[in-house]
Parts: sequence; structure tokens; C-alpha cells
Amino acid sequence: MIEQESQEIVLKGLGVAPGICIGKAYLVDKEGVNVVKRYTIAEADLGQEENRFKSAVSKARHELSTIIQETSPELRQHTAILETHIQLLQDKMLYGRTLDTIQRFHCNAEWALKTVVDELRAMFQNLTEPYFRQRGADIVHVSDRIMRNLVGGESVNIRSIDKRVILVAKDLSPAETSQIQLERIKGFVTDGGGIASHTGIIARTLEIPAVLGLNNATQIIRNDDFIVVDGSTGFLIIHPTEQTLMEYEERSIRYEREKALIARESRMPAKTVDGVSIQVMGNIELPEEVVAVRTNGGNGIGLYRTEFQYMGRQGFPGENELYDKYRDVVEVMTPRPVTIRTLDINGDKALPNQPTIDEANPVLGLRAIRYCLKKPDIFKTQLRAILRAALYGNVRIMFPMISCCEEVRAAKALLKEAADSLAAEGVEFEYNVDVGIMIEVPSAVAVADILADEVDFFSIGTNDLIQYALAIDRGNPHVSHLYRPLHPAIIRMIKTVVDVGHQKGIKVYMCGEMAGDPIYLPVLLGLGLDELSMNPQSIPMVKNAIRKLSLKESRAFMRRVFKERKEVQVAAMLKNAYAGVLFDLDYDEDTAV
Ligand code: PEP
Ligand code: MG
Repeated sequence: MIEQESQEIVLKGLGVAPGICIGKAYLVDKEGVNVVKRYTIAEADLGQEENRFKSAVSKARHELSTIIQETSPELRQHTAILETHIQLLQDKMLYGRTLDTIQRFHCNAEWALKTVVDELRAMFQNLTEPYFRQRGADIVHVSDRIMRNLVGGESVNIRSIDKRVILVAKDLSPAETSQIQLERIKGFVTDGGGIASHTGIIARTLEIPAVLGLNNATQIIRNDDFIVVDGSTGFLIIHPTEQTLMEYEERSIRYEREKALIARESRMPAKTVDGVSIQVMGNIELPEEVVAVRTNGGNGIGLYRTEFQYMGRQGFPGENELYDKYRDVVEVMTPRPVTIRTLDINGDKALPNQPTIDEANPVLGLRAIRYCLKKPDIFKTQLRAILRAALYGNVRIMFPMISCCEEVRAAKALLKEAADSLAAEGVEFEYNVDVGIMIEVPSAVAVADILADEVDFFSIGTNDLIQYALAIDRGNPHVSHLYRPLHPAIIRMIKTVVDVGHQKGIKVYMCGEMAGDPIYLPVLLGLGLDELSMNPQSIPMVKNAIRKLSLKESRAFMRRVFKERKEVQVAAMLKNAYAGVLFDLDYDEDTAV
């Protein structure tokens, strides 16, 4: 048994954030809700079991009331659904029947609740009236909340972990990942998660090694197991042998040494061997990360993902709070540009403490600009804050997930309304800012010529563009092998956007993850992108790689690429032409070319 326990086990997942970490595993388990077991309750203990159910219900009521109270008055209308949920908590159908079931079957409260909810769900599903179907969905939401309280399955409080550990989880949401305390968490691995998931993006920004998409790591790894995580290659080793440990310690030293060498030159301009300067910018999720962009030699902020300021809190932030944060970032970067992307919530970035919208396909749902256009008050609060912060430096405003001309016009109209309202109140602001859009929906590529007439710049978001164009969920490990930036469709789309943008006289940037991987640089330079933006940690490596490339050769390389039909041929051409130049650091074959 002991021998078996110490046997080395190697798992392969997706290396999404480079680097190596070695340490003890810490399992965060937030399942439980789905694995309800039945057990018998003795007659004498039935009263106690009923009370356990009642206190879970009263805790749920308290939670809902707190959310309602903490929602700002102008948004109260959106909390009507929560009032309905509070009423449902005491509904006979749910409350009364669960108590009856406990008594009748002498069973535990969790099992009784699950049985009742399953029956109700089946009953509502068979009704065609939308009103009743919605009631069915509400009952499920309410029962989930009670169930969480019953099983004690609090959502993981990553902030409170006080040991130096490697997190092992089924999945971590972007909101949870952004709670990671760097001094405590060495790295993390998850069963779920895909290459371009926001969870992976945050790991790269935090600069902690991460391997996602391991499928069953949580079933194999036990608390306190000694593990090695190689976020560069995607390998995870449980109970490493002495030999393996030595190997990984050496690799880690080599990786850190190479990184330090590259970092030393990070302030130097990114000029190709034929003398063309490329602007290399940083992507940030939180205002504090602006420091990392500066220390890594970034020429500005190409993407400020503002939605993270709306996470991990009750209610929405107010205008002054947003303004203070934006102003901090703008002032630190001035005179360099700061591209503030307006709220891109929902999809995989649902706000944890807001009532969830019931959507079968959230990634195709009320996300980003669609959400903002439906909630003009929330949107205008943000736009006013941006316009006020723009007084202090070089601000660009960028709208996400644009799919047609009407959306840009509607967003610009609200921007104008925000400016007019500030002017009417005598509040100072700057309206003379560049306004651009993200190109991340295939329809935007098709109508790029129309959209170019509406804006000052395009920024290609390859994370979503690949997801939507190739129909590959960016967060799904089962289709990660199909998530290919070099797919001919993607390369052609990028070419179209750059060419159309340039014909129309606007700049074309890229801020998707593809921009931060040196492997793709010959393609991106050859296609003519004006600026690349990436997680701050990649800036030194990308600048270093640009200094080894020639723009003229990259263009010639792309002419050859367009004669190829298959992505594998393009990948092979890249490897052949640039081996030794761009492949110095270890990289994960599955997540790169
Ligand atoms: C993108 O889609 O490429 C992008 C940069 O936006 P996000 O990753 O935040 O969706
Ligand atoms: Mg996107």
C-alpha cells in the first residue's frame, strides 16, 4: 500500500501559464451539491433534521435580503426576482413537501429536498406556458441556495487559505482565480478549463504556473500529496521520484534564468531587424496590474478588462469608485495609451452575487455589449467614469463583442448621452478620445468595412474570434485540441480585418492571447497588425522575439503560408523557419502550434 502510494503518476493537461512549481496539494472541493446521498434518520432525530432544513432556509432568506439591501436604489428594479425567490422559500410546494418527505421517509433533509425538487422540475417542464416554466427555473435556483447551506458547501474562499500550497480543483471561475493570494498559492491545477479560458488568462497575469483540463486530477490527487506542476508543458506529476524532482528543479532554474535574461532587456524598444518598431502593450484585469505592465516594458495598456472590478462584491460599483480606479491607471501610464474596454460580463464571467439569467448558452447570450445596451444605467455609469478619467491621460474606449453596425451606433449614442449628462452637471471630462471595437464575432469580420466607418480602431480578440468562428468553446478541455489559432479560417479573418481597416485608414490591433505567444509573431507581423497587446508577463519575451525577426521576411513568409491549405503545414513551416529563434523556452505542444 505504502509502495503504491508513493508510485510516481504522470498526468497531461493543458499548460496555460508557464513555469514550474513543486509542493503540497490542497484540494478545494465545492461539489457536494450534486452528489446527494440518502441516509436514514431515527424517529427521535426527525425534529432535529427538520430544524436543520429550516435553518438552511432561513439562512437563504437572509442571504437574499442582504443582496437586495446592498443593491443601489437605481438598480432595485432588477432585484424583483429575488423578492420572488424569498417568497418561494416558504412556498408549501417546496417547503411543506420537503418537511413532509423527511417525516414520511425518515430521510435526511438533502435527499428530501432533492426528491421534491426533481418532482417539481419534471412537473413544470411538462407545462408549455412560459410563466410556469420560469417558476420551475426559480424553484431550482432557490433549492440550490438551500442545498448549499445544508451541505455547508460555501463557495471556495480562496482568500482564506493560509498555507503555501498548490490548489487542486474541479474548476475555478475567473472570479475565484482572481482572489488568489500570490504569497500563498504556488500554482493550480483543475479538471476543467480550456486553453483560452479566463481562468488561464488570469493565471498567466498572476504569473503562477497552471495546468487545466486534467479531467480527473481531483480523483487521483489527495490532500498533502507532493506534486510537480509544469505549466509550460502541461505535465503534472504526483509523488515524483528523486530523479524526477531533480530534473524539474533543474528545469525550473533554467526557466527562471532564461526569463530573467529576457526581462533585463524589456525596456528596449521592440524593433525588427529591418528597423520597424512594433508597439507591445499589456492586458490587465485589475488596476494594480498596471505596475507589471510598466516594469515589463509595455508601451501602454491595449486591453483593460474592467469587469473584474464588478466581481467578488455585492451590488455594482458606483461612478466615483470606477473613476478613481480608472484615473489611477491612466495617470500611471500617461502619456502612453490606456484602452479601457467596457463591461464584458456574463458568458464565463457571470457576476457571482447577482441573480443569474437563465440562459442555455450563456456564451451566445446576454454578454458584453448586449448586456450593457439592455442595462443603460449600469453602462452609462461606467462611461461617465471613463470620460472623467480621460482628462488625466491618453484614453481609448473599446466596446466588446460587437456583431453589427447598430450595436456600435447604440453604444456611441449612450457615450454621447453620458457626456451630455456630465456637461449638464458641470462635471469636467474629456470627450476627445479614440473609440474602437473588439473584432471577436465572425459577423464583425464580414462587415468590417461598415464598422470601420464608425470607429477609430479595431482590436482583434482572438480568444473569442476563434471560439465563435470555429465553434470551439474556449473553456472546454474536450475540444481544446481543435482550438487552433493557425486554422486557415482564422488567418484569413485576421488578414481581412487588417486589410479592410488599413484601406479605411484606421489602425488594427490585437489583444487576444494569440498576440502574446511568440510562436505566432511571424504570422502577425506578416499580416500587418499595428499593435499587439498581451498579459504583462509575456511582454519581455515578445519584445525579445520581435527583435530577432524581419518584417520583410515575415511578409514573404505569409505569402507562402497563403498557398498552404492545412493548418499542420503552416505549423510545420513556422517550426522549420523559426526553430531556435522562437522556441527557446519550453512550451506545451497542445496549447501552442
Ligand atoms: C478576446 O476575446 O480575445 C479578448 C481579448 O477578450 P476576452 O478574453 O476578455 O474575452
Ligand atoms: Mg473576448
